[in-house]
Amino acid sequence: MQYRRLGSSGLKLSELSFGSWVTYGNQLAEETARECMAAAHDAGVNFFDNAEVYARGQSEVIMGGALRKLGWRRESYVISTKFFWGLNDGPNEKSTLNRKYLMQAIDASLKRLQLEHVDLVFCHRPDPDTPIEETVWAMHDMIRAGKALYWGTSEWDPASIMAAWHIADKHHLAKPVMEQPQYNLFHRERVEREYVPLYRDPCIGLTTWSPLASGLLSGKYNDGIPPGSRATIKGYEWLAERIIDPVRISQVRSLAPLAADLGCTLAQLALAWCLKNPHVTSVITGASRPSQVVENMGALTVVPKLEADIMTRIDGLVGAPS
Ligand code: NDP
Repeated sequence: MQYRRLGSSGLKLSELSFGSWVTYGNQLAEETARECMAAAHDAGVNFFDNAEVYARGQSEVIMGGALRKLGWRRESYVISTKFFWGLNDGPNEKSTLNRKYLMQAIDASLKRLQLEHVDLVFCHRPDPDTPIEETVWAMHDMIRAGKALYWGTSEWDPASIMAAWHIADKHHLAKPVMEQPQYNLFHRERVEREYVPLYRDPCIGLTTWSPLASGLLSGKYNDGIPPGSRATIKGYEWLAERIIDPVRISQVRSLAPLAADLGCTLAQLALAWCLKNPHVTSVITGASRPSQVVENMGALTVVPKLEADIMTRIDGLVGAPS
């Protein structure tokens, strides 16, 4: 495992990391959740991603319990959470990044995680109803209070990220250092085009999500929907519709001979492809069982095999942003 600097910060994250969306609190019992984290840790993962909204707080409870049992030194790992959607329906409790919500949300999150601080905190989506300046001050104060160490955004447009950065710069506040966008073979535009101005100055780092497009790129849907897979989970029908897209499934099928040539699985090929992008600090993987974690960590050995001609072949099969 190699460790990449998170944007302009001095923090180093494992290039593959592990997150709990959908799985923790929906699919995995506590013991399997812990085993997945242990398998990732054994491979050198030092970053574990979470969010307030995942399983309505249960994902944080499970990860907090797992960390307790695993007993790793707090200094050795990086934990994140994210705020925006909230857990309640009040006007200041959902879909907001106002100061009141953020200051309350971090305290509740830390309690669920059984931690004194999170390392990374993300503004999970932009909030057009709160001035960016108010959010920047709240994130700065959260950091100054020692409840979080670094802050960033998730799926913000580049202009809003720049605005937040400039406000922080002007007032000598903690600057956003990272963004968390979706990035995979089917979702490239934002990372490869829109965010380009953010990479040099202010040098925003990326922790990217859904590298397997929710499992689709592993090839598991090539011959139908396997029982127990993400596309069968109640409440995620909206996601299932995207997963079982026949055009994409045929593109995944077309990648299979290439993966075979490289001596790797489709999942490893798709993850290694994300890792090839030098603007990506850490590719956040997801898994519903430890064996998937082990397979996915094997992507690290595939990265050096992705030479220019292979990358061009992949573009030819799935299409690149024009
Ligand atoms: P992926 O796209 O990699 O999907 C993970 C799922 O794919 C697993 O839960 C599993 O589902 C299946 N899978 C994984 N590995 C394999 C394998 N080797 N073979 C077969 N199936 C496999 O990642 P996620 O969508 O889970 O996203 C990763 C993380 O990113 C999240 O946990 C979260 O931390 C973060 N995230 C952030 C978002 C944001 O808005 N900031 C949004 C979404 C995610 P199954 O076995 O059930 O089919």
